[in-house]
Amino acid sequence: MTNFDSTAIAEFKNVWVFCEQREGKLSSTALELISEGRKLADDLGGKLCGVLLGEKVEALAAELGGHGADEVLVCEHPLLKDYTTDAYAKVLCDVVAGGRPEVLLLGATNIGRDLGPRCAARLHTGLCADCTHLDVDVAKYVSYLRENSTLDVDGTEWDMADRNLKMTRPAFGGHLMASIICPRFRPCMATVRPGVMKKAPYDLAKAQAVKVVKPAFSLSEADLHTRVTETVKAAKKLVDLIGADYVVSVGRGIAKDVEGGVKLAQALADELGGVVGGSRAAIDSGWLSADHQVGQTGKTVHPKVYVALGISGAIQHKAGMQDSECIVAVNTNAGAPIFEVADYGITGDLFQVVPELIEAIRAAKA
Ligand code: FAD
Repeated sequence: MTNFDSTAIAEFKNVWVFCEQREGKLSSTALELISEGRKLADDLGGKLCGVLLGEKVEALAAELGGHGADEVLVCEHPLLKDYTTDAYAKVLCDVVAGGRPEVLLLGATNIGRDLGPRCAARLHTGLCADCTHLDVDVAKYVSYLRENSTLDVDGTEWDMADRNLKMTRPAFGGHLMASIICPRFRPCMATVRPGVMKKAPYDLAKAQAVKVVKPAFSLSEADLHTRVTETVKAAKKLVDLIGADYVVSVGRGIAKDVEGGVKLAQALADELGGVVGGSRAAIDSGWLSADHQVGQTGKTVHPKVYVALGISGAIQHKAGMQDSECIVAVNTNAGAPIFEVADYGITGDLFQVVPELIEAIRAAKA
């Protein structure tokens, strides 16, 4: 699929989202991407289609519709029951080649990071990995409107090659945000960090109205080089940072009493009904496991309340928490950068401040 000229590019329409499911349950990233895809499809004047691969997964289409999909392309096959790169890449590429979407989004999950680049190479297009923001590059579109002094533009007049998906992601260790376009190839492909996009509210009427389409594809044992013989789940329960309403994170500031610092953070999180997170310094020091890390190379969270205890507020940490609804920071250094994004800043020793915070919350609850 080579598409160097604008005529070919203009044939690619609509926004597609690969909707990851495991054991018949949609990932929350799929719903986040459907919600974001809705906005993009509206901006581009196209349809939003979810792409669902698996065995007996059609029932999930309504959930995708409820979050904004106009249509769901359902590809069911016994060989799609468990994820394998070969089977999923074959089927996704087949349906993309048939449907020619303008945009194809995947979550930057383990599966999305495996599947996305494989499909981009086969489809001969570009992929921007690990995006944190997406919008439509309309600069030239706007100048076209101005030159023609009309807001009622017929899409056929518009040179489709001049509009692009603008894919933004951190670059140079998080010091820059790079906006990337893919002007000469379609679909524009992006993987998007889990937890960054907000899930739209569920709408029952839209769920009932969603159209289910079963596209043609071919898949046989001969397409697969690997077979899943057994799925072993990690016995350890991982912390659900992304879904939490309250996150209490600790940083290197607990160094003088690590055990006591983690216990205090846990006690505050329990009082709030939340979970404990950490800066990379806390994770690299082995004080918390990797699934607790917040930031550019950890998780992106936007809870109702984020409490940063003994965290300086490096740009890479802020990248994962600065969109929280309310940020409370406790730090001995009044000049710590974390205070730049904090709604409530307490200059003080966390070992003194946190017990007082817990007491105050208990008193307020009583
Ligand atoms: P420090 O910067 O050492 O800050 C400790 C803070 O604790 C200080 O502000 C100090 O004043 C305060 N303090 C000390 N004692 C107390 C006390 N008793 N009470 C209250 N305050 C106290 N970092 C992340 O967090 N997440 C990431 O995902 C991430 N990704 C990265 C990716 C790259 C490519 C790079 C280069 C770096 C990344 N980092 C990340 C690391 C980041 O740059 C910082 O080094 C890290 O966030 C610092 O962690 P910290 O704030 O806990 O430690």
